[in-house]
Amino acid sequence: MKIVIIGAGIGGLATALSLGRAGFEDVTVIERASELRPLGVGINLLPHAVRELTELGLADRVAAIAAAPGRLAYFNRFGQPVWSEPRGLDAGYRWPQLSVHRGEFQLLLVEAVRERFGADAIRLGWRATGVEHGVEVAEGGAEGAGGAVRRVERVRFADAAGDELVLDADVVVAADGIHSAIRAQANPGEGAPPWNRLVLWRGTAVVPTYLDGRTMIMAGDAEQKFVAYPLAAGATGEAAPEGFARVNFIAERRAPEGVDETADWNHAVDPAPIVELFADWRFDWLDVPGVIAAADEILEYPMVDRDPLASWTVGRTTLLGDAAHALYPNGSNGASQAILDARTLAFHLAGAAGEAADDTAIDAALAAYEADRRPATTKLSDMTRQLGPERVMQLAHERAPQGFADIHDVIPEAELRQIADSYKVAAGFHPELLNQRSSLTPQVHA
Ligand SMILES: Cc1cc2nc3c(=O)[nH]c(=O)nc-3n(C[C@H](O)[C@H](O)[C@H](O)COP(=O)(O)OP(=O)(O)OC[C@H]3O[C@@H](n4cnc5c(N)ncnc54)[C@H](O)[C@@H]3O)c2cc1C
Repeated sequence: MKIVIIGAGIGGLATALSLGRAGFEDVTVIERASELRPLGVGINLLPHAVRELTELGLADRVAAIAAAPGRLAYFNRFGQPVWSEPRGLDAGYRWPQLSVHRGEFQLLLVEAVRERFGADAIRLGWRATGVEHGVEVAEGGAEGAGGAVRRVERVRFADAAGDELVLDADVVVAADGIHSAIRAQANPGEGAPPWNRLVLWRGTAVVPTYLDGRTMIMAGDAEQKFVAYPLAAGATGEAAPEGFARVNFIAERRAPEGVDETADWNHAVDPAPIVELFADWRFDWLDVPGVIAAADEILEYPMVDRDPLASWTVGRTTLLGDAAHALYPNGSNGASQAILDARTLAFHLAGAAGEAADDTAIDAALAAYEADRRPATTKLSDMTRQLGPERVMQLAHERAPQGFADIHDVIPEAELRQIADSYKVAAGFHPELLNQRSSLTPQVHA
């Protein structure tokens, strides 16, 4: 079975590795960028994704570039504690939670794909422009030879010089991100990703160690929020000196009137106005404006996602990762869900591969992938739009806008726990369910 993957982001690369683990050999990844550089800042790989990476044989390599948070703690905008829970191994999972630099993790996956499939398995500098479904070609070569025909997916790519590359495949996986060209082809009226008017400023900074040095924190509410978590000592640049840590942070605030989604996003910005927005957020356990002021560089993004689709698959081309279900970052689940998609798709395709290029079996495998993943990510998208697990902070703000002496005077412990647990069930990382779920490594090999 010949499989073409569009996009060498975390979703596309994890798909290639998952297919490799399932025994597929004819796998090619085509990426628009002409060079893969370590772009982005921190992301979290939650235990459900770390399980999949472990079963792909990557646990040690990922751990070597990661920090493993032991706790997640939510606060209000005055730095008062709202909810706190253990994370990763400390929470009884069989797999840790890992915070990594997105770009470093992506390059690690690139290396693993090249080791598995060869140096040419990832082709750079080709932008997918469209796919034709069910093109009939003669079995074994020359079209129109009058012999047996088979149906292929035909993908077209363009490079910067305007040259065209045409690839035929049995299955095409479009992992081309939130601005997916293949999603747009199948959903021509969809337009740009909807924006909820929140602006995100992401950066990394070396700052004095806070709390126990292993805690991911979130403070604020639905209008303004600050998130920070430690990265590995050497992540992207010099190691932090004794008593300091390199942290990833996200500062977030509703956009003022007048800014619209056509603004020039994704560029470095001056930290001073952002420091000013958070000037009062000096907690006795963390100096938020101090962290922002210490940033190496701050990148500005709109908080966008995608509306859930009624279908991901046309012909034998399917969507995966952000192309299928871009989520708001509440819940830190974007990369983890893409990895789950990848493993689930490979699991089902491996079942079809035994029946050698049987179209019906491939169609059934793609339908099974979508049946597993589309309703699950649709539910997660709905929850994420309602703030996901971060709803505890908004509730605290609504019920006690000036703060509180004890959070349990404001929100009962059971309500806080219910919000945290229901999100974990929906996202696939409730500890007991994850620890007991069967493996997505297929027994059948292609
Ligand atoms: C540059 C960048 C920086 C990011 N930084 C962060 C971050 O700091 N924190 C965070 O939480 N998340 C970040 N993300 C998002 C995060 O990586 C994704 O939400 C998640 O990993 C799911 O990944 P994905 O592979 O589905 O999509 P993406 O990571 O978006 O990858 C899609 C890939 O497809 C390629 N592509 C797009 N269009 C085409 C085309 N037509 N033809 C061929 N290739 C194409 C893109 O160049 C990209 O490599 C970033 C994404 C990108 C692209």
